[in-house]
Amino acid sequence: MSLLTQQLKNALPTVDFHEEEALAPHTTVRIGGPAEVFCRAKTTLELEALVKFAKSNEIPLTILGWGSNTLIADRGIRGLVVRNEAKELEILETNESEKIDPHKVEARWQHAESKAVMPQFDSIVYDESGSESVRVRIAAGMPLANLIQILLREGITGLQWFSRIPATVGGGIVNNIHGGTHFFSDYIESVEVIDESGSLRELAAKDLDFGYDVSRFHNSKEIILSAIFRLYRGDVKKAQAIIAEWSRQKQLQPAKSLGCVFQNISAEDQERLSLPTPSVGYIVDNILNLKGQRSGDAQISEQHAAFIINTGKATADNYLALLKKVYIETKTKLDIKLTPEIFFLGFTQAELSFLDA
Ligand SMILES: Cc1cc2nc3c(=O)[nH]c(=O)nc-3n(C[C@H](O)[C@H](O)[C@H](O)COP(=O)(O)OP(=O)(O)OC[C@H]3O[C@@H](n4cnc5c(N)ncnc54)[C@H](O)[C@@H]3O)c2cc1C
Repeated sequence: MSLLTQQLKNALPTVDFHEEEALAPHTTVRIGGPAEVFCRAKTTLELEALVKFAKSNEIPLTILGWGSNTLIADRGIRGLVVRNEAKELEILETNESEKIDPHKVEARWQHAESKAVMPQFDSIVYDESGSESVRVRIAAGMPLANLIQILLREGITGLQWFSRIPATVGGGIVNNIHGGTHFFSDYIESVEVIDESGSLRELAAKDLDFGYDVSRFHNSKEIILSAIFRLYRGDVKKAQAIIAEWSRQKQLQPAKSLGCVFQNISAEDQERLSLPTPSVGYIVDNILNLKGQRSGDAQISEQHAAFIINTGKATADNYLALLKKVYIETKTKLDIKLTPEIFFLGFTQAELSFLDA
């Protein structure tokens, strides 16, 4: 047993630590080397204890949610990797109905490039902000799929727009996920974090720098423990119909992927190049002609060129080679610097230096 594992076991005897745990199964794309030490946090208290111990002992710490947006290097991740599985949920007092101002950020699906693959949203969207509101505190490790069903059983709606997004609440907050024109930030009142010094803090939504695919957590070293959501005692049947429709529209999404690799291009670049859509998938397919390109078992999806998929035993190097090709060709041919939507864990600065070039 390594010194690190021994140190962790002594401090946190109830947690099950594993050395050299393969991380690929903990990601949706099934890519990535091992964690030096891996464990699951089953409760928020356990997560808090792990984070505080790692911070006070300067142990490198990585939190994984559902692993749906994270490319892990083939060499794996040094230090402690914690898969957050804390799932507590508490319904707080119900308030007077209150209008929540949505963030004005362009949605991923707004400019569908292929009606067969990209969900169509305009025909199903509705406004339930007139319904009675209800506040719910939800642990960051709660998977969205479970959460939406639990809430509906309690007669609580609002998050139906995010069904079929493979994510935990924590990962969803980090990236401010969007379903159609709805953003997670539309529903978040505050977030409880452990800050860099190891202290607990409750941060108001206005301080979270939410934007399209971004929040302050992209740059801060804070760990999200839970969040208070402001949801609705809305129409459960209508919400269920949205979930059914969303499932139908999204069933063609490529499996074993990390979702869209890059953010949409800016409106200025779209206008400059007279493109019909800001989707990088359109560029990859129609301008770079890279749809279907392979590197080992990684492939630019034939179904949806904004996704890179693992068709078998793809490595992180395979995935990165395709990502780099798209990035460099877009820069050379269109003078656009793409912004990756995914997170990179375990890579060296040199391996990712092409992104700054
Ligand atoms: C098939 C598919 C479809 C998708 N569709 C959509 C979509 O419709 N809309 C959309 O917005 N996104 C979509 N995504 C992208 C993805 O689901 C989101 O970005 C999601 O937010 C990732 O959540 P996660 O729990 O998997 O995070 P992870 O990938 O596990 O982690 C992402 C980052 O967040 C950090 N992190 C995780 N938990 C915490 C925490 N508690 N505290 C601090 N940091 C934390 C991790 O360290 C990592 O840096 C899709 C992805 C796939 C594979």
